[in-house]
Amino acid sequence: MRIVIKIGTSTLAHPTGLLNVRRVEALCKVMSDIKNAGHEVILVSSGAIGMGVGKLGLRQRPSDIPSKQAAAAVGQCELMYTYDKLFSEYHHTVAQLLITGDDTDDPVRHRNFTNTLNRLMELGALPIINENDTVATEELGIGDNDTLAAIVAKSVHAELLILLSDIDGLYTADPHTDPTAKLLRRVTAIDDHIRCLAGVSQTGQGTGGMVTKLRAAEICMECGCQMVIANGNNPANLYGILEGREIGTRFIMEV
Ligand code: GLU
Repeated sequence: MRIVIKIGTSTLAHPTGLLNVRRVEALCKVMSDIKNAGHEVILVSSGAIGMGVGKLGLRQRPSDIPSKQAAAAVGQCELMYTYDKLFSEYHHTVAQLLITGDDTDDPVRHRNFTNTLNRLMELGALPIINENDTVATEELGIGDNDTLAAIVAKSVHAELLILLSDIDGLYTADPHTDPTAKLLRRVTAIDDHIRCLAGVSQTGQGTGGMVTKLRAAEICMECGCQMVIANGNNPANLYGILEGREIGTRFIMEV
């Protein structure tokens, strides 16, 4: 199976902005094992800005664009250093792809990007993708990695996109404030009711939240790719998701 896995900042880093070492080690181990089992894995990883904030010792995430871009430039190195080190332990070779909205909109650049990804997978490498935050501002770029991951999944005809976040999935209400909130296990169409639920169930630290996750689900469902939103706090969940078990919220087009 060809799988795209997106990891959000809140899964990778502690609220201090520094790496959640235990979690990231466990994630890399499970993803290596999934690749060893014969699946093709593409990773879309956030965390450049978050980790740059930690590494530069900034007291909080900056709000101005040049500072965010500077933090991303620092954090992206740290991210790739970490992935390279951890995946190397399991004999996997990582490749970095930093792209912008222009690269997915322009047909020639999009084809180049897709060809590179396909070739990397033929070579057995593990592509790790992030938006090129140093040149793409939030206003002009793709803006969030949920959408980026869905565009990637569509481009390479992936069968499954897994969004790992700090929330278990899509709820009927905000689970932080409403104890009656129920986790939806399966969504077969994105209608106004589902869109309305996304407005009330928020996630924490990252850029995305539920609204961008639903946008990603729409892109996936249009091209027949399943999508699962699951909590990244238990990396072993990835095995269960691949086995089709009820973990998180699965978006699947009914035929
Ligand atoms: N590209 C951003 C980063 O690496 C994250 C965007 C997102 O989480 O959606 O920090």
